[in-house]
Amino acid sequence: MGARSSVTDRETHGMSREKLVTDSFPVLQRETVQTVQVNLGKLCNQVCKHCHVEAGPNRTEIMTAATASRILQLVEASPNVTTIDLTGGAPEMNPEFRRVVRGLRALGRSVLVRSNLTVLQLPDQRDTIEFFAEQGVSVVASLPCYLEENVDAQRGTGVFEESIEALRRLNGAGFGSGRFDLDLVFNPQGADLPPPQASLEAAYKKALLERHGIRFDRLLTITNMPIARFRESLARQGLLDLYLDRLVRAHRATNLDAVMCRSLVSVSWDGRLYDCDFNQMLEVPLQAAATLDDIESFGDLDRTVIATAPHCFGCTAGAGSSCRGALTPS
Ligand code: SF4
Ligand code: SF4
Repeated sequence: MGARSSVTDRETHGMSREKLVTDSFPVLQRETVQTVQVNLGKLCNQVCKHCHVEAGPNRTEIMTAATASRILQLVEASPNVTTIDLTGGAPEMNPEFRRVVRGLRALGRSVLVRSNLTVLQLPDQRDTIEFFAEQGVSVVASLPCYLEENVDAQRGTGVFEESIEALRRLNGAGFGSGRFDLDLVFNPQGADLPPPQASLEAAYKKALLERHGIRFDRLLTITNMPIARFRESLARQGLLDLYLDRLVRAHRATNLDAVMCRSLVSVSWDGRLYDCDFNQMLEVPLQAAATLDDIESFGDLDRTVIATAPHCFGCTAGAGSSCRGALTPS
């Protein structure tokens, strides 16, 4: 499957540019659902500039106990689902978080928690790292640079220092040292694609070990999606069209087999179903079923059509991008 033609090179004939970009993205179909990504809510202790969830401390949308229980029920009924990826906001801040993790681990599934690190330093979260270790979860943590000024510029003053302290505590509990997985996430500061994942990982490992004594397993490079806060910021700077063109021109058909929606579904805090986290934020619905109440297992969503839109080029540009990093790491 290849992009049907170069949008940037053709006449628009009065059609909306967004529609042309959407139409140029290949048709995608899901294979077997192996990962369920669950957004536990938009509540977060940070307000990052690039946040595609538009999360923050004043957001009140969080998953209820009833929806959390329905997820546990559906995972139990879905033998092909091996991994549950918990995200937010800051998933740790949802009162149901620990019950969900315990329930999923009791079902024998792998649990991955996307942590912003600074949440682990809050007074009421001081035992969360011990909870992670007790449950054997994998931690994927945001750290968009190994330089303090860049992290603080994107994520807020003081975030780097707090993040380093949380990483030290994670290392102390066995994360990133062979016992439990600790991966870091990089996303570019501006309108560029991420640099090659392998060389950036080597630079991160050297800098964090030498300067802060910190170890981690993998660096995941993620392309910024032209949606939500990042889209607004590009538009304010007059860079939105340039960035979209950059993504379309860098499209590689070889990434299509590995885009995450082929094996993942995304669940919102209120139990609605989406093809991925980005479609969730844009409220582009999954076509085969609307909510958790419409399915009897996540297997019902195997081999269903995926809804695509211009931001999908963010997944296929260059080395490709997913919540697990580059698709074709160099
Ligand atoms: S920590 Fe994550 S969820 Fe929270 S505001 Fe930043 S990017 Fe958004
Ligand atoms: S944005 Fe979502 S739907 Fe589009 S290709 Fe990426 S994972 Fe698939």
